[in-house]
Amino acid sequence: MHCVVCKQGETSSQRVTVERHNQAGEPIAVIHNFPAEVCTVCGEEYYAAEDWQAVDQLLAQSPLRVAQVPIYELRSP
Ligand SMILES: [Zn+2]
Repeated sequence: MHCVVCKQGETSSQRVTVERHNQAGEPIAVIHNFPAEVCTVCGEEYYAAEDWQAVDQLLAQSPLRVAQVPIYELRSP
């Protein structure tokens, strides 16, 4: 498909890593091997709604592993 962000590139089907966020915008899960159409020029990723529905079902299952990550905030000087 034609990229609507840069209006120059075409997309190619790839598998990417995405984050699922809660309503506060915080990441609650990382999903590997997620299907996406990726623009070959600007890198914009396009996802299908049904793939996110599949993630909702996935989140009810046990994850491969659980990682704890430190969270920082860059404060203005
Ligand atoms: Zn693009």
